[in-house]
Amino acid sequence: MSIAPLDPAPLDPALDRENPGDLLARVFGFSHFRPGQEEIVRAVIGGQDVLAIMPTGGGKSLCYQLPALARDGLTVVISPLIALMRDQVGAMQQAGVAAAALTSGNSPEENEEIFSALQDRRLKLLYIAPERLASSATTGLLRRSGCGLIAVDEAHCVSQWGHDFRPDYLRIGELRRTLGVPLAAFTATADAATRSEIVDRLFDGSDPATFLRGFDRPNIRLAFAVKDSPRKQIMAFAEARRGQSGIVYCATRARTETLAKALADAGHPTRAYHGGLEDWERRKVEGLFQTEDGLIVCATVAFGMGVDKPDVRWVAHSDLPKSIEAYYQEIGRAGRDGLPADTLTLFGSDDIRLRRAQIDDSNAPAERREADHGRLNALLGLAEATSCRRRMLLAYFGEISEPCGNCDLCDSPAKLFDATEPVRKALSAMLRTGESFGTNHLIDILTGNATDKIRQRGHDQLPTFAVGRDLKRASWQAVFRQMMGRDLVRPDAERYGALRMTEAARPILRGESGLTFRADSIESAGSRAEPRALVSDDDAPMLSALKAHRRALAQAAKVPPYVIFNDRSLIEMAEKRPDTLDAFARITGVGATKLDRFGASFLAVITGQAETVTHPARVRLASRGGGSLYDRLLETEQALARGACGTLKPLSLSTAQRARLAEQRPRDLSSLARLIGDKATERFGAAFLEVLAEE
Ligand code: ADP
Ligand code: ZN
Repeated sequence: MSIAPLDPAPLDPALDRENPGDLLARVFGFSHFRPGQEEIVRAVIGGQDVLAIMPTGGGKSLCYQLPALARDGLTVVISPLIALMRDQVGAMQQAGVAAAALTSGNSPEENEEIFSALQDRRLKLLYIAPERLASSATTGLLRRSGCGLIAVDEAHCVSQWGHDFRPDYLRIGELRRTLGVPLAAFTATADAATRSEIVDRLFDGSDPATFLRGFDRPNIRLAFAVKDSPRKQIMAFAEARRGQSGIVYCATRARTETLAKALADAGHPTRAYHGGLEDWERRKVEGLFQTEDGLIVCATVAFGMGVDKPDVRWVAHSDLPKSIEAYYQEIGRAGRDGLPADTLTLFGSDDIRLRRAQIDDSNAPAERREADHGRLNALLGLAEATSCRRRMLLAYFGEISEPCGNCDLCDSPAKLFDATEPVRKALSAMLRTGESFGTNHLIDILTGNATDKIRQRGHDQLPTFAVGRDLKRASWQAVFRQMMGRDLVRPDAERYGALRMTEAARPILRGESGLTFRADSIESAGSRAEPRALVSDDDAPMLSALKAHRRALAQAAKVPPYVIFNDRSLIEMAEKRPDTLDAFARITGVGATKLDRFGASFLAVITGQAETVTHPARVRLASRGGGSLYDRLLETEQALARGACGTLKPLSLSTAQRARLAEQRPRDLSSLARLIGDKATERFGAAFLEVLAEE
């Protein structure tokens, strides 16, 4: 790891603090802040304590990286994942920012280099793993290095009740007290309990400026399908997205292995990932996923925290997740770059039984188990939704919204039917048999299927025997599934899955309320939804060429491809086909340093020509939008080089003078003269002012 020099275009910190948008364009190459970013950035720059809750992919990193550049001194970033830190450091260095990471994976030489950079105060950003905080030397090191801001990524890791608890995070509060500097904490987990725990432990309970950004991820398409033949359904979904990176979440290790094999046999580059693998095997899959274009990983939920890939194009669940929160987090790993991403979640009665049993079998206190059932219910409600899924999902998080137009139910509304009668019949069959039987036996009763078991128990004599002949077996299965989904009945783990009625079913039984269910029981939403192409057919070959070039550069620099440019930038290049450095500089994600490093070679790919060498001052100007003005000034200057009459002694400006003109844009002769001198002003002044006035 080498440490990049400070930004080649010297910054004016005071100006950058005033106007962070400038820094956003110059260093990161972004023309706008994402929703919520600017307020957070301004608060952090201003030295306030900040707690920011943003959805995954909302752009949290920028909210401390940009302030780190605008503020004096060093910003230390505490982050739980080494792989993630490395990528961020790589990306910052590619953007020309002096950044480094102190991790257990560093070589002694790398550490030496970082320590000496810290001593010379050459670093703007230092990433450290929380384990470092256990050593008292770290605090001293940070103090001596002029650390003026602490940023905490994945701040929910400080919560003891969360699933990602990291004991070393508890030391952060102490670090803040000792250094006496502001702290900015970031997380995507927002429930109120976690939030107040973060405030207690990181800020000693004194309220930070808190920013809560909405949960919507509008670019992620939501879809559920009833599990019919899961392997076929997942294969069809992946096939329609061949070549794109995706994750298939599975409930068991065995399923990850069999699905991975099936996908690989069908020619998709695929790996399995689960807790049964050796540590190094897991690291390897994580690394491959991060660096290889278009890899599929079939994984248990263990695959997640370490995934920070912005261009995951799809997520599929071959089995129902355990709660609505888990669902949201898992689909959230798709489309962090904001480009369209697809999801498909399969579910069936067996999933519901499995998840209920897992909750009932856990050692958690009764209260906790009831809450877990509630979270599962919320997800089942989403699975069996009868209108816009996103609206329902967001409502769970307390956000009111309109139908989204980007979910399966907005695309094709569900067919509904009045299920009050069938549900009453089903409940009655259950109650008359002492709530001791599972779905299949109950359906036998309802459809009048006199099996041996039915006859032995005399169930063919019940008044409910054969009262449900009007519905087919598959329809009854759908009715029972939806009854479980609405938590009207629950499989009882202690009695081998026998169904038991819940309080929620009572009003229906008593005839006080009715029910509407979905009529469509089994269909393959997965194969039906066509993925949206990222670019038109015309632009696809150009996009591939740009990706190939990016891959070559990434391999040479030993970084993941998206660290060079993300997909969004490449797509914009393929669509807009910039043919000059100025046009290239306007592509999203192209900052000054990246323009410098990669502009010419990408232009060569786009125009199909060899690279040309351009003066660095000109390149820098292009990144600030002053490039074409520079060119017009140069044209004017060349036209008047020998005066309007064409007979005077040739006169020309230096590149630096021209760049300064384009940058400062003087409006009158005397300020012009201060920049280029009296002689040049006499010859070019009037013409220059005309050019400048056109701006
Ligand atoms: P988070 O940590 O919140 O999940 P990241 O910080 O990784 O998200 O950002 C997700 C993606 O969005 C990254 O590829 C990043 O470069 C991009 N991004 C962040 N801010 C902007 C912006 N203002 N304009 C365009 N892209 C952005
Ligand atoms: Zn919708």
